Amino acid sequence: MNVVEPGPGICACIRPDEGANAALLCAAQGAAVVDTTSSAGDMSGLLDAVGVSAGDVRLVINTHHHSDHTWGNQLFDCPILAHRLCRDAMVASLEDAWRLDRIRASIAERGKSDPRWAEEMQRKIEGLQIRLPTEVFEQRRDIVLGDLRIELEHVGGHTPGSSVVWLPQSKVLLSGDLLFVGRYPFIGDADIPVLISALRRVLEFEAEAIVPGHGPMCDESAVHDMLGYLQGTWERTVDHIAEGHSADEAAADGGYPRYGEGAAERYHEANIRAVYAQLVSGDACRL
Ligand SMILES: [Zn+2]
Repeated sequence: MNVVEPGPGICACIRPDEGANAALLCAAQGAAVVDTTSSAGDMSGLLDAVGVSAGDVRLVINTHHHSDHTWGNQLFDCPILAHRLCRDAMVASLEDAWRLDRIRASIAERGKSDPRWAEEMQRKIEGLQIRLPTEVFEQRRDIVLGDLRIELEHVGGHTPGSSVVWLPQSKVLLSGDLLFVGRYPFIGDADIPVLISALRRVLEFEAEAIVPGHGPMCDESAVHDMLGYLQGTWERTVDHIAEGHSADEAAADGGYPRYGEGAAERYHEANIRAVYAQLVSGDACRL
C-alpha cells in the first residue's frame, strides 16, 4: 500500500492490488476515515502505516456499502456516517449476501478458480462483525473537523447510496467507486445513466487531485476515460439489442471498448452483460 498526501492533512492509502483505497483526514482535533477496507486487520495495518490509532478517529465515512469499503468499520467506536441508501443496502445485505453461511459459500465458489484469494478472504472474515452507519444524510453534509472542511455529496451511480467526499481547501476529491483507474470497474450494482451523470458531476468540482475507489491517484483525464468506456459500452450494446442480438452474442463481440491496462479483465464481459441486462429492463432511452 502506498500512502500519498495530495493536500495538508490528507493521507490517501492507495492499494496496488485490486483492493479498495481509503483515506485518513487528519486535523489537530482528531482524524476522519473515509472507507474502511474489507477487514479490521487491513484497516488496522493502514492506520499503522499512517501513524494514527483507532482511538484518534472521530468520524468514519462510508462512500457506499460494498464490503471492501465497509467491513473494517468494526475497528471504530466513533460515529459512522453514510448516505441513507448506503445504510439501507447494508441492512438488506445482512439478511442476504452478508449472512455468514452465504459469505462462506460465495468464497468457496470463487475459491474453485482462485484458491489464494479464497484463503485470504477466509482469514479476513474471522471475527467479522459488520458495523452499520450510525448516522445518515440525504443530499449533502458539511463537516468541520478542526481546521479541515469536509463536504459529502450524494451522487448515486455506482450504487444507489454512493457519495463523494470533497475537500475544498485542497481541491481534492475522494470519488469512491464512481471511478476505477487502470483496471476494469465493477458495475454490477450500478445504474449506468446515473453513473455517467455522477462522473460528469465529478468534473464540475475541478479537482486538482482525485482519489479513486480503486487504482492510483489521478486527475480529470481518468474521469474522461471512464466516461468514454461506459458510453462506448452502452452505445454498442444499444446497437446489439436493436439488431436482435442476445447477451451472449453481444459478449462475444471483440469490438467493445477495453479499459485500463486490462487488470480485472474478468469484468470486461461481466460489464457488457450488466449493461445488456439494464438496457433490456427498459432503460434504453435514458442516456
Ligand atoms: Zn464498490
